[in-house]
Amino acid sequence: MCQVDEEYNGLLESPVASSATKKCNKCKETTAALVLKPGESLCRGCFKEHFVHKFRAMLGKNRIIFPGEKVLLAVSGGSSSCAMLNQVQEGLGQNAHKKLRFKPGIVYIDEGCLLGQSTEKRQKTMAQINSLFKMTGFPHHIIPLEMVLNLPPSVLEPVHLATDDPAGSYKEAVDHFMQSSPVHSVDPRVDRSELSALTDGTNPQHIAEAQTQTLQELFSRVKTLTAKEDLLHTLRRHLLVSTARTEGYSKLMLGENCTRLAVKLLANIALGRGAQLAVDTAFCDPRYGDIVAVKPMRDYTAKEISLYNYMWNVPYVFIPSLETKTADKSSIQRLTESFVVKLQVDFPSTVSTIYRTGEKLQTASVTEDIERAPLKCLFCMCTLDTALGETSAFQATLISEQLSNVGTTPMQASLRPDTQTKCGAPCDQQDGEEHCQAQAVCCSHKGGDSMNLESLLCYSCQQTVKDMTSVEFLPQYIMSEAQRRNRRSQIRHEISEFLLTEDSDSPSIKADS
Ligand SMILES: [Zn+2]
Ligand SMILES: [Zn+2]
Repeated sequence: MCQVDEEYNGLLESPVASSATKKCNKCKETTAALVLKPGESLCRGCFKEHFVHKFRAMLGKNRIIFPGEKVLLAVSGGSSSCAMLNQVQEGLGQNAHKKLRFKPGIVYIDEGCLLGQSTEKRQKTMAQINSLFKMTGFPHHIIPLEMVLNLPPSVLEPVHLATDDPAGSYKEAVDHFMQSSPVHSVDPRVDRSELSALTDGTNPQHIAEAQTQTLQELFSRVKTLTAKEDLLHTLRRHLLVSTARTEGYSKLMLGENCTRLAVKLLANIALGRGAQLAVDTAFCDPRYGDIVAVKPMRDYTAKEISLYNYMWNVPYVFIPSLETKTADKSSIQRLTESFVVKLQVDFPSTVSTIYRTGEKLQTASVTEDIERAPLKCLFCMCTLDTALGETSAFQATLISEQLSNVGTTPMQASLRPDTQTKCGAPCDQQDGEEHCQAQAVCCSHKGGDSMNLESLLCYSCQQTVKDMTSVEFLPQYIMSEAQRRNRRSQIRHEISEFLLTEDSDSPSIKADS
């Protein structure tokens, strides 16, 4: 939406004027219909071929999505995710040899409550999205953001699956699929009866007024747009992962394109998310364990997608977001976007340069992330980047912060035991656990210490919470999980002297949880 300049700047007019003389670079026969980048003019047919091939190549190269697997497409209604949806549709309709073989479903999260939209307005948007999804014939789930308040604390725990040799198991899965193929043949038309039954459950759930208010209260406690966007991103991701789990999907497909990822890469550095750059921008994001998030659109620029959608009439819906109609300097994310997009106009390799640099960062940190399974951030579920040596930049930041800081942070202040509700119920082991899940901030008085949210968050998520005036409206599942983790670390601390060595400490604790 913000890429209008970049998308159409001279691209649709100039080729028309010069196309009479220009031939397509690829087939060298047909007249070129568009200029993808200087020196690369393509005809309609070749452009479509190029676009479709890119999508299939991205999935084929990574071999992560198995045949017959249920994949949840996160569609925001925007051009990029709608182009992704279109590619999946195309892929399923192709002839047997080239066909995509997974089973797609679609999810849309309605964030209208944060924009103060009326119920009518939200219903209108949802109806628009619903009709868009209905055309695909895939099962779809339209979920209001308020549903995030009903999530269980288990969302925040990555589920670890036994990992075999991925390449070997992929081949096995393909062979198995081919053998049982006649039964499972993934023709969208055949599956439709089964799908339509599922679709019934996808009508927008009834949203209680109180839940909308709670969510609005939460966001009104956030002082900056930067932190609001970050918090929204976190909550949205939790909701997506939870939906995938409850509906039986094992992959989550995100529509982030190359331009988006280049912006994200730079914005993440500015936000202090350097440690998570690789996972955030890589094709495959394994941080949730059982639900793997993949980004098949990451090789497309926003321009390519817009041209494709325009030429092939791919439907998409304009849906305003928190960033819509805000000034360039209103948030770090917005400023980075405007910086990259404006630079891209005059220097067309800006996006690809940033993106390729990101590619190089990946490998090392991603493998490192999978191998060790240390503490994860409560919000973004990335490995905690705060357990660093005394000479790290992080410690230096903390020291200078301490020196210039007066007063307590909202994280500590609002969670002192004396401000918490105490349930008075006996809190023994399993009962206590369930009980605490129901009562958000209760039972934390057990150790008598204030709850320390800070120690459970990565550096960047800490900054987001620091931008909040209070954390009392954070969803219950987050608070309950925070309580649980705090209790666990407290127990670990209490029994620490009975533990033999640093290494034998973690397994013994893990066994009892
Ligand atoms: Zn051509
Ligand atoms: Zn985090």
